[in-house]
Order: sequence, then structure tokens, then C-alpha cells
Amino acid sequence: MLEWCMSLAYRIVFECPNGHQINLQKVCPNVSLTEDEAMTLFGAEDLSCAKADCGWHGKASKARILRLLPFNWILASAS
Ligand SMILES: [Zn+2]
Repeated sequence: MLEWCMSLAYRIVFECPNGHQINLQKVCPNVSLTEDEAMTLFGAEDLSCAKADCGWHGKASKARILRLLPFNWILASAS
């Protein structure tokens, strides 16, 4: 049986060193999140740029945060 729950999450928009946007979605219970906090929490995440002619990949801490957008992530969990 599936159970649905809503969890606070953030969509973090990073900019790769070549200026392209990379989206990362992460569940995060913090009601507010600063860029510094986001880097502390997610700086070790591996990112890769989706632009075919760029191909940059590296740690989130090497990219720049453009935007932090909170949203309610609806998660299904088997019970
Ligand atoms: Zn790129």
C-alpha cells in the first residue's frame, strides 16, 4: 500500500562555470534556507550540466547558487 506524504523541499538553481543553469531538487525540512546553508547541506552533491556542448560536471560547491525555491514535494512511501 502506498502512503502519500508532503515534505518541504527546495529546488536549487545552480549556475555551472560556463553560465548554464542546473536544477537540483532536495528534500529539506528547513523553513528558510540561505545560500550558505544550502552550500553546507548540498555542496558535496555531484552536478552535471545538461547542455550537450558544455559537459561540465563537478561538486555543487564549485557552482554558483542562482535561486532557492521552496516547494512541497509529494512523496510516496510504501508501508
Ligand atoms: Zn554548462
